[in-house]
Amino acid sequence: MSKLKRICVFCGSSDGNDNEITNAAVELGTAFVKHEIELVYGAAKIGVMGTIAQTMLDNGGKVVGIIPGFLKVKEVVYEDLTELYVTENMHERKLMMQEKSDGFITLPGGFGTLEELFEVITWQQLGLHAKPIGLLNCNGFYDELIAMLKTMVSKGFLSEENYRLLIVDATVSGLLDKMEQFKAPKKPLWLKPGRV
Ligand code: AMP
Repeated sequence: MSKLKRICVFCGSSDGNDNEITNAAVELGTAFVKHEIELVYGAAKIGVMGTIAQTMLDNGGKVVGIIPGFLKVKEVVYEDLTELYVTENMHERKLMMQEKSDGFITLPGGFGTLEELFEVITWQQLGLHAKPIGLLNCNGFYDELIAMLKTMVSKGFLSEENYRLLIVDATVSGLLDKMEQFKAPKKPLWLKPGRV
């Protein structure tokens, strides 16, 4: 059984047009059920978000949805989740997602997905949490993003150490294995001597 009991997944509210991405969402949901990992996510029934939630519910998994009131319109929200929380705003939602999860996985998505990934990795960089953060580089979707991060390292805006906070793998099983083995940095990686 996984030591990560609950994983928060950030992913697109759209389906995209690459079947491999939909298949990866199904594979991840199936793996969560198999390893008795609960899903925490943004509670939408649309896009890749809806695909992973539905896969889990169809297979007897547990799904915790967290959505801000303004997004809770009938066409969007998945009402049949194991637990559904409605928050005042996006900030409260993201804090609750972080607090309720033992780790985070980002699948392909758009601006919302990237914003959530970078917020949670920034919080780890600041030492606000010490939970594994995985990026599923499904079918090369995030190749250019990874290249951009390497540019940030080579240009001196991101340390190699902080770059390695992001756990990357192209496969669901490889990513889950790496996240299980993750050891959090002992100290925040931001406040270094000479930096402040
Ligand atoms: P995007 O990647 O821009 O499609 O945004 C997806 C992410 O933003 C998800 O992880 C959600 O938390 C949030 N999000 C965006 N649109 C919605 C929606 N219609 N319902 C719920 N959450 C959404």
